[in-house]
Amino acid sequence: MSLAEQMDTVTDAAAGTVDRHATTETFESTAPATGAVVGVFPVHGDAAVGATVARARAAAGQWAALGFDGRKQRLTAYRGYLARRMHELADLVHRENGKPHADAILEISLAVDHLAWAAGHARKALGPRRVASGMLAANHASYLEYQPLGVVGVIGPWNYPVFTPMGSIAYALAAGNAVVFKPSEFTPAIGAWLAAAWRAAVPDVADAFQVVTGFGATGAALCRVPVDKLAFTGSAATGRKVMATCAETLTPVLMELGGKDAMIVDDDADVVAAADAAVWGAMSNGGQTCIGIERVYATSAVYDRFVAEVSAQVQKLRPGSDEEATYGPMTMPSQIDVVRRHVADATAAGARVVTGGTDDAGEGYVAPTVLLDVPETSAAVREETFGPTLTITRVADAEEALQRANATSYGLAGSVFSASKDRAMDLARRMRSGMTSINSVLTFASVPALPFGGVGESGFGRIHGEDGLKEFTRAKAITRQRLPLPVNLMSFGRPAGAADALARVMGMVHGRHR
Ligand code: NDP
Repeated sequence: MSLAEQMDTVTDAAAGTVDRHATTETFESTAPATGAVVGVFPVHGDAAVGATVARARAAAGQWAALGFDGRKQRLTAYRGYLARRMHELADLVHRENGKPHADAILEISLAVDHLAWAAGHARKALGPRRVASGMLAANHASYLEYQPLGVVGVIGPWNYPVFTPMGSIAYALAAGNAVVFKPSEFTPAIGAWLAAAWRAAVPDVADAFQVVTGFGATGAALCRVPVDKLAFTGSAATGRKVMATCAETLTPVLMELGGKDAMIVDDDADVVAAADAAVWGAMSNGGQTCIGIERVYATSAVYDRFVAEVSAQVQKLRPGSDEEATYGPMTMPSQIDVVRRHVADATAAGARVVTGGTDDAGEGYVAPTVLLDVPETSAAVREETFGPTLTITRVADAEEALQRANATSYGLAGSVFSASKDRAMDLARRMRSGMTSINSVLTFASVPALPFGGVGESGFGRIHGEDGLKEFTRAKAITRQRLPLPVNLMSFGRPAGAADALARVMGMVHGRHR
């Protein structure tokens, strides 16, 4: 059975049928809410990954040759296909990841919007352009363009299994690359569905986007094949391993890692709006959001009102898997232990739990948990919790809030609530993060023109926006001599006095500047 046929059976598995024909080792994906099997998938080993990348490489030339217009037309067909089947995909996301159907619709909508932007802006961001040649090469025309790399490998997470990988996939494809995507072992059916949708919507270049499934070793195989760039989203610990593996083949990497994002609530903030945003930023998706709010620093002027408002709002949240549930189960079972450890560690250090707890939400779920008076040295403040928890800390003023917000090895995103535009902009600029929203949370992720990525332990490189398109290209510089000069400085035949003449000209042009 060819790998292509195997991938067809992967698609069957995505629809819920067990793959009886796979000759390779397989694994099951299960629904976190019920434990029911969602699908059975091949564990692709080195040879299978190599064969998939080889097919992608063959397709990459055809895909690049389509040019911006040809690719835009096909990416538009793909986006239309996704938009028409949004509920079908959202049902699968609900089953395999656990999030509410409505949240899945929001996630898919964001991904579709990014697809549209990437396809629509690729020519302007990457296409050939003339640039000024400058004084020393005035007799040349200079050209710049951004060419595709070839095959991009994407290793994705389970928390936003459509939106997050699509931030790499859409931009890499729009830039003219083929893509091989390795979804998380917790969400392979969603990855297989996305690839099957591509094959159906874009049959003439079907191999330009393919999926391989398996565990960490399958991801490592993708690094080793090698591909021309590897875009990774996940934990900093695994990111280090991926970088080390990619170093063996000098494969460049893009790292979208975790965060410990903070919100600053200033004296003049709209406290009700800030509390609403903090609760959504911390608890939506069960807190399993890399750009989720995990810490709030509220000034003394607003602290008591803010805590009261957050406490009232979280009472209304109810984790579950039914239609009225506000967020779902923990997608990765082992994460529950991480959350429990952080809460237990905080309470042992004297923190107060204002609402919720970790044991009263039912198996597989974590209740909304707000922690006050948590020492800054504890795990709940320093490490990524990735659960529906929030620490709220009283500070003297916004400067102290900023200093504490920045006192982390992470630097992904954050939020500032203030009625003063200038003050908020100043705080946002000085926040050590790749992205900051003022008077809201997470908004930057929904603006396709804005780059997405972090600093420090949160990684490097950018998806989304023009930077996200350029991330999957190499800049190509070309000069073309339009007319020869009487004196060619870059020739052994230049006259003896040419260098002195050049020095005199440079002195006249630049020497007067102090
Ligand atoms: P990982 O970082 O371990 O996994 C992310 C992806 O990398 C998965 O597809 C995984 O595959 C793959 N992978 C694992 N090991 C390797 C390897 N050696 N080489 C190549 N690829 C590999 O995240 P987890 O899912 O285990 O979650 C652990 C923690 O990471 C969470 O608790 C959370 O704190 C953080 N996280 C952060 C995310 C973010 O958006 N910033 C997203 C997800 C998690 P497989 O799943 O098959 O092991």
